[in-house]
Amino acid sequence: MISADGIIAKMKNQKINYDKVMRKMISEWERSETRPSILIHSCCAPCSTYTLELLTQYADVAIYFANPNIHPKSEYERRAKVQETFVEQFNERTNSNVKYIEAAYEPHKFMKMVKSKDLADENEGGLRCTACFEMRLELVAEAAADLGYDYFASALTLSPKKNAQLINELGMDVQDLYHVYYLPSDFKKNKGYERSIKMCNEYEIFRQCYCGCVFAAMKQGIDFKEVNKQAKAYLESCNKSCM
Ligand code: SF4
Ligand code: SF4
Repeated sequence: MISADGIIAKMKNQKINYDKVMRKMISEWERSETRPSILIHSCCAPCSTYTLELLTQYADVAIYFANPNIHPKSEYERRAKVQETFVEQFNERTNSNVKYIEAAYEPHKFMKMVKSKDLADENEGGLRCTACFEMRLELVAEAAADLGYDYFASALTLSPKKNAQLINELGMDVQDLYHVYYLPSDFKKNKGYERSIKMCNEYEIFRQCYCGCVFAAMKQGIDFKEVNKQAKAYLESCNKSCM
């Protein structure tokens, strides 16, 4: 299986275009008639839309929902359900076989990490987010290694609000710790972000109004009572339609 290291090494002294790196890796899979398995981290459905549309053409893909950062629990459960439902609908409409895997919800681990590194007061996009990306990349890398996937990846590079360069640099570091290859990406490129918006409309996907953690949400003035109310109403409607 091809690693991104060799391709990136040839791009020294220039800003690395991680989309280009991924496309070169895909070309290599095609040339060698290989269809790798990829475990992709996602934190709700929107960033996984175009990501799945693209990667399922070349690989066997699973979504890994592992997000101890999301607060409160009802919102976590809502995002997980929206993600799972999108995967089911995507499989039905495209005749794909994407798996959905959900990790246990362990918010204390995220809170402990933030407190131990004194990151609670950081602004969104600062050091708390770096640590949060790293934590979730480690979770998906560990699961990919345990479950025997060829690669792990992050759907978050689709979001224009997330620092894709940073996520990719962290991913490349994490691959050395877990002995499973990282698939770099910048899914927003090649009109990937625009396509994700269209897909969100086509699949009627809920778009959350804050990134996920309590710290950023408080700075943003999010009303947690309202979040709880809406999340619970969504989950109840799902339960009713399943009965
Ligand atoms: S839109 Fe934000 S919360 Fe949703 S998957 Fe993308 S990065 Fe995560
Ligand atoms: S703002 Fe988002 S990425 Fe940053 S720490 Fe909070 S949940 Fe994580």
